[in-house]
Amino acid sequence: MKGPIPYQRRDLMSTVVAGIMLCLMLFCLSSFSSAAEKTEVNDIRFWSYPDYTRVVISLTEIPQYSRSRLANPDRLYFDIKNSRINKERQKTITVGNGMLKTVRAGQFNENTVRIVLDLDKMSDYKVISMEDPVRIIIDIYGQKQAVSAKKRIVLDPGHGGHDPGAIGPNNLNEKDVVLDIALKLRKLFENDPNIEIFLTRETDIFIPLEQRTAIANSRNADLFVSIHANASPRRDAKGIETYLLNWANDEQAMKVAARENAISLKKMKKMNDSRDILAIMLGDLRRDNKRDESLKLANLIQKNMVTGLNKNYTHIVDHGVKQALFYVLFGAQMPSVLVEVSFISNPLEEKMLARDVYRGEIAQSIAAGIAKYMLVFPEGQTIAQGGGRIVP
Ligand SMILES: [Zn+2]
Repeated sequence: MKGPIPYQRRDLMSTVVAGIMLCLMLFCLSSFSSAAEKTEVNDIRFWSYPDYTRVVISLTEIPQYSRSRLANPDRLYFDIKNSRINKERQKTITVGNGMLKTVRAGQFNENTVRIVLDLDKMSDYKVISMEDPVRIIIDIYGQKQAVSAKKRIVLDPGHGGHDPGAIGPNNLNEKDVVLDIALKLRKLFENDPNIEIFLTRETDIFIPLEQRTAIANSRNADLFVSIHANASPRRDAKGIETYLLNWANDEQAMKVAARENAISLKKMKKMNDSRDILAIMLGDLRRDNKRDESLKLANLIQKNMVTGLNKNYTHIVDHGVKQALFYVLFGAQMPSVLVEVSFISNPLEEKMLARDVYRGEIAQSIAAGIAKYMLVFPEGQTIAQGGGRIVP
């Protein structure tokens, strides 16, 4: 298994220091509310896989940028307005993986940082923006791999490492519960000759949200299932819900997405309202039938979880299938869902989630949903192809 190759790893301490510096900087910016302050390009990283590359540009502020693709030589460039980049970050990063030759970053003129991606063989690309921290994500696709005879499923246990996820009243951590459920799920498919399972993490480690879909895309996965436990300030909130990526249509769904994205509800609402920014990405999803496929998958998982758990438990609350803008589903090239398996904030459900047998039953129910999806929609997935659409 070839793992991701992060261009630049930061140890925890430098990340914490950088975080504090960023907070101080943002505080200063907001204190003086100076419109003249420039957006700073902090960091450029990439993850390289056999036919897929993800480039992540970190910035201090939400940028305004223009972009274009030029021929001879083939290259993509991004001009970030009212921005600056430190001298030591103005450099050429060699990728050389057959899709992308290099990434170059420099101060183009006094007010503009230009980032150039020198292309090799690219079949398609997409651009996504995220906040907290602010980043522009560029996905570069190479030539499509031969389709595997086996269906590939990427399971994504949420959180991990320094991010515990939600914590129950008796200190049960979401990250531990969901990892165990994902490992149990993999075991259930172990002897299935038609299915291959990959996990975004197999141990208690932290993985950025944008790397999780990058792993699924790099595996040419047929399905992506992110596994989480829910939380609410209302201790009596309980039950199961399954999400797909789309604009949220209710406040509760936005609260869940804000928590899972680690952003404020205010920012979440703002993003949900700024339809133009996300319109093209979500339009792509609809066009490629991925939204319909995700909805079918979500319905089957939700239904099987509720009926499966109802066999042995009473009062399983069915919140149904919902939609919201989850970062972890952004840019996924396959039908993808996020399951909130129970409320870890509810004392009774926390107690159940702490039990091995309940986690096993959750895994079995999710597996039943996936298996039914595979049976009914064996050719359900499509992979987007085509030339250079840019999002946003
Ligand atoms: Zn979570």
